[in-house]
Amino acid sequence: MGIVWGTIPSRHLKPAGRLIARMNGTMDEASALQRNYKEVLDRIAAACRAADRPPGSVSLLAVSKTFGADRVAALAAAGQRSFGENYVQEAVAKITALRNERPDLRLEWHFIGPIQSNKTRLIAEHFDWVQSIDRERIAERLSEQRAADRPPLQVCVQVNVSGEASKSGCAPADVIALARRIVSLPRLVLRGVMAIPEPSEDVAIQRGQAARVRGVFDDLRAAGLAVDTISNGMSADIESAIAEGSTMVRVGTALFGRRARVDD
Ligand SMILES: *Cc1c(COP(=O)(O)O)cnc(C)c1O
Repeated sequence: MGIVWGTIPSRHLKPAGRLIARMNGTMDEASALQRNYKEVLDRIAAACRAADRPPGSVSLLAVSKTFGADRVAALAAAGQRSFGENYVQEAVAKITALRNERPDLRLEWHFIGPIQSNKTRLIAEHFDWVQSIDRERIAERLSEQRAADRPPLQVCVQVNVSGEASKSGCAPADVIALARRIVSLPRLVLRGVMAIPEPSEDVAIQRGQAARVRGVFDDLRAAGLAVDTISNGMSADIESAIAEGSTMVRVGTALFGRRARVDD
């Protein structure tokens, strides 16, 4: 009978066997990640077809919060370039490690978490995009703190389409004023809107909320603002978001698996 390494507890293996068992584990994780990546890209492509939209019209932001730099590097090896993070300290450590150790990967980093004003400097220094701007003070600080030798920050206004149920995001009625302020700031480029609708398993509710995000985007265009990004849709509602016009889905769980932390 052949030996299946995975069935032998590693403490019973000689050192070489332990190494192989560990490598097998890593290879399993890498192939699971590749399989998930393909599945998510297939879901996006199918949703585009169903909505009669061109296949390249929706981009994928891989949300790597709580997962290590090794997982990011593994997904980058499969072809993913854009990653999203929510927690400043965790993100800066990951971004710095990857920039130092894997400059060849040329990753693009998006900040998508709540922003405290004492964290704007770190965000301005390390990220390429900031999607979660919900007030003028944050926009002003990010513009002031963005270094002159870096490209301007690409930004979205986070809009609250779920009313009282959600505390983060700008009220739809205030989005145009905030967007105009952003456009007046020298180191920011306004790209569009981002939303985190209240989770629902009801597709009609998902579609209704996604349609409201699209409505806010349309209002910005009608006001003469040049925007091209609707960042909406997560693991559970990719299809609804794309059906209602999303141009960027932010996917964590469907790529990396469930997060250990439950505070998000
Ligand atoms: C965590 C998070 C995601 C990813 O959510 P999943 O359900 O794991 O795909 C997307 N956007 C934001 C803002 C998040 O905080």
